[in-house]
Formats: sequence, C-alpha cells, structure tokens
Amino acid sequence: MWTARELMFFLNERGCRPYWVGGCVRDKYLGREPDDYDITVAAKPEEVASLLQTAGLSPELGAVRYGTVSVGTSDGMIEITTHRKDGTYTDARHPQEVEFTDDVREDLGRRDFTVNAMALDADGNLVDPYGGLRDLESRVLRCVGNPVTRFTEDALRMLRAARFAAKLGFDWDPALRSGIESCRNLCASLSDTRVGSELSGLLLSDRPAYGMTLLRDSGLSAVLFPGYEPPADLSGLDRLPRDLALRMCYLVWERDTATVYNVLRRMHLPKNLFDDVLLMTTAEVLLLPLDGPSIRRALRTYGSLLPGILRVREAYGEKNETIRNIAEMDLETGVCVSFAGLAVSGDDLIEAGIPAGRAIGITLSYLLDEVLEEPDFNSKDILLEKALTFCRREGYIE
Ligand code: ATP
Ligand code: MG
Repeated sequence: MWTARELMFFLNERGCRPYWVGGCVRDKYLGREPDDYDITVAAKPEEVASLLQTAGLSPELGAVRYGTVSVGTSDGMIEITTHRKDGTYTDARHPQEVEFTDDVREDLGRRDFTVNAMALDADGNLVDPYGGLRDLESRVLRCVGNPVTRFTEDALRMLRAARFAAKLGFDWDPALRSGIESCRNLCASLSDTRVGSELSGLLLSDRPAYGMTLLRDSGLSAVLFPGYEPPADLSGLDRLPRDLALRMCYLVWERDTATVYNVLRRMHLPKNLFDDVLLMTTAEVLLLPLDGPSIRRALRTYGSLLPGILRVREAYGEKNETIRNIAEMDLETGVCVSFAGLAVSGDDLIEAGIPAGRAIGITLSYLLDEVLEEPDFNSKDILLEKALTFCRREGYIE
C-alpha cells in the first residue's frame, strides 16, 4: 500500500497539480499529527480516478458533483478533491452546480477559517493567501472573508468555530465573535446530524470545557438547545476521560428527562450512547457511599456504566475513587451481579425438585440477593442447599 506522500508524488508527476490542504497543513505547522490527509488537485475527478486505476489502486469516485475521489493508503483514507469555487451550501434547486476551477487560491477562498485555508505543494511551497500562518502563530481563529457572509452561507461554520477553538486552544477573532452574535439564530435550522458531528468533536477535544463555554457565552447553545442551560461550572468536563457518553452525561446531569431527551436527540448520538446516557442520568438516586453489597447491587442495575456514573460525580467534586476502584475490580473479575452469573439455573432448580413456574423465579431472585450480599455463596452446592431451605420455608416443597 502507498503512503500519503507517495500518492502526493504520483499525482504531482502525472500533472494533477496536487496540494496538501486544510487540516493536515494546519496540523503540520502546529507540530501535531494530522487526523487525516486531504489533497486538492486541478485535475478533474474522473481523470484522477483513472490515473489511480492505471497505477493499480482502487479509488472510489464519490458523488461527481462534490468532485471527490477517495483512496486507501497506509496513512488512512485520503480524499482527493478537485479545486472548487463553491462550498457545500448548494442551492437546493440546483444541487449539481459545483464549479471546478484550476486555481488553488479560489478553492482556498471557499474554506472556513484562515488556518484551514492553506495549501502546500509537493515541493513544500506554501500557498497562504489569507494569513493562516500568522493566525496560527497568534493562535487566533479568523474567518476567510466577512464572518456574517460566511456564516450566512453555512451556519455550521459557527459550530466549527467552537470546535476548532476547543481543539486547538485558539481565541476567536473579535469579528468572528460578533459575526456569531448576529448570525447565531441560523443554527436553529441545522440538521441534527451536522450539529451532532461538530459538537461531538468539540466534546472529544482536549478542551471540552472551553468549547462549551464558547457555545454558552456566545448564545449558540441557547439556539441549539432551547430550554436547556449548560452547567454554570463546566470545568469538570476537562476532568473526565475522553468519552462522549461521560461528557454528555456531565452536561445533562440533574436535568429533567424531557430536557435530557431533547439535548441527546439534537446531538444525534448513536442509539447505544443515547441509551447509556439516559440510563446514567437516572442514577442520581444512587446514594453514596456504597459498601460491597450495595456496589454489587448498583452493578446489577447499571452494569459496566457504574464506574462512569461515579466518574461524572467525581467531576462534580465527589470523592468516589475508592468505590469506583472496587466496582471496576468487580467488573474485571466478573463477580456475579445478574441471573446469568449465578452458579445455578432454573433447570437446576427443577431438577432438584422445585416445582416449575412462579417458584423458580422467586427462588432465583432470592439466590441472587444472597450472592450480591456474599459473592462466596456463588457455587452450585451452596446455592442448591439455600434454594431448598428457602422453598421449604415458603411452602413450595415439603
Ligand atoms: P480535523 O482534523 O478536526 O478533521 P479538518 O480541518 O480536517 O480538521 P474537516 O471538517 O475534516 O476539518 O474539513 C476539512 C477542510 O475542509 C477544512 O480544513 C476546511 O478547509 C474545509 N471545510 C470543511 N467544512 C467546511 C465548511 N462547512 N465550510 C468551509 N470550509 C469547510
Ligand atoms: Mg479532517
């Protein structure tokens, strides 16, 4: 498989006039490892695809109107996009109309922020028409062009401004900030999918508290999440591991179910994360501290989410580390906290002479309670003995 560099040199040799562009250029100048590499070329998508095919690669031609060819390399999937004049804010009536150009500067002009609007050719020459490098050095996020125009074209850029500030630790340029104040209401009509992907990126960045503070103080969160006010103290977000469910949980902690539900839906969380966060936020009734048996009872209810719930509470200032360590240890060693973990089954009980039906369920519940109290009871002999004594006492058997 080729490296990203080999691909670059190949496209260059074949006259496609390729440039590294966007995030990978920005990250290179920041000394960060890029998450992915993007290349922009003067050549048309079909040309690029057929050149790559002749070299034995298997490019995927995306929707031609977006002008993107994707190809796998040892540095990940690389998108090769033909220079375009336009952005993604296509007119709904004329979705095909994306104009290609062979001028890389024009392509840079449609990009969101100066630090994202730099291109680097195969020989290492930088094209930086908007002062991206200067802004990288002063750690400022600035729009390419007039912020109000750019946010009106695509309101998502306002959320991207918060995400990049959080990711890079940059300040907002004052004009960008006031542009958001004038345009923020446009964010109401963004799709949940686009909102969710930018805000998940923000929450998973190195500075989620800073990113959320920007969203809150700029009034963006009020537009995105009507009826929801972020916590006054966001600093705990930075004390949580890089985990979307936990960081979301922190944001909706102690809110009513309807609010939690609305926020999670707007964030477009995958179903499993959605369910996890909903379950975790119901854990507020969990009274701490917990002793051994009550840790296991909590594990029965919350399963592997329990340590996370305790972490969220720690981020709010509680001292739960000892309990959390025990819970983590219990999960690791597979201590029995459910019917499935019991050393006897319903069939075992029937075989031992307990009548099938209601008595079996009641007996199993009793046994699970015993085992939650004392894990050492979880052996077949002990449990059968306990089951028979219990059933005699309850009158299920003679
Ligand atoms: P990351 O490393 O966080 O993915 P990135 O800069 O690669 O950062 P992407 O969202 O992958 O960000 O976008 C790639 C590039 O495409 C950006 O650097 C920017 O130049 C351009 N871009 C993406 N979305 C927009 C948009 N909505 N408006 C204008 N330009 C955009
Ligand atoms: Mg990217």
